[in-house]
Amino acid sequence: MFPKCFFPPILIILFTFLITVPIVSVGIAKTDNDEEEDRYQRLREQMVNRQIVARGVENRPTIDAMRNVPRHKFVRSGEQRRAYLDNPLPIGHGQTISQPFIVAYMTQLINPEPGMNVLEIGTGSGYQAAVLAEITDQVYTIEIIEELGEWGKQNLRSAGYDKVQVKFADGYYGWEEYAPFDAIVVTAAADHIPPPLVEQLRDGGRMVIPVGSPFRTQNLMLVEKRGEDIRTRNLMPVRFVPFTREEE
Ligand code: SAH
Repeated sequence: MFPKCFFPPILIILFTFLITVPIVSVGIAKTDNDEEEDRYQRLREQMVNRQIVARGVENRPTIDAMRNVPRHKFVRSGEQRRAYLDNPLPIGHGQTISQPFIVAYMTQLINPEPGMNVLEIGTGSGYQAAVLAEITDQVYTIEIIEELGEWGKQNLRSAGYDKVQVKFADGYYGWEEYAPFDAIVVTAAADHIPPPLVEQLRDGGRMVIPVGSPFRTQNLMLVEKRGEDIRTRNLMPVRFVPFTREEE
């Protein structure tokens, strides 16, 4: 005689199995992911020590930002493992994410501080914007290739940089609505300094921009605005993708 409500042992075993397997596998998946993130964190530490601090970058907010931004989330899928190498990487549409040292060097040049209003020209992967967003909440970035900018925006959102504002336009004209800017970072090489950008720089503000012919070595320039006086300084030879004037 069996009681009315009888569960055969096989059903109980099956039931327990169905409940525990998903729980255990979620646990394992999470651990794998954590391990992966730990590994990237170690690679990032090495990148900061060997490529950035060892080469003379001293600015604290810049170093901390480079240590915090998950660069592997700003490269193409399949390239994550190369994200912390000492070179630029292709991001599609003939464009590149800059070498880590260059990003740090340009960031240090604007003397970044919390509360600063910063404009970037050339969103690309969104990485430079993320580094700036680690330091200040007001980051605006403009990309001329909409498809690329959409990807950059998604990278920023999925890495948690929700406040960065992205616009698709020719960055030559800046972003009047949010001007004046304490700093402007241009990440594509122009053959001259765009006057609208100088215009939108706050008195006392700084702009860093590669200037020179496309596909050749250019000069990284620091532009400082002191009233009517615009001071420019050549800092070092660099190679950037060209500053274009029309969507291709
Ligand atoms: N800051 C980016 C670097 C991307 S490469 C990063 O961290 O990944 C430079 C970018 O500038 C390219 O995406 C290119 O499409 C963009 N660009 C070139 N000319 C531009 C212009 N006139 N206005 C806005 N973006 C421009």
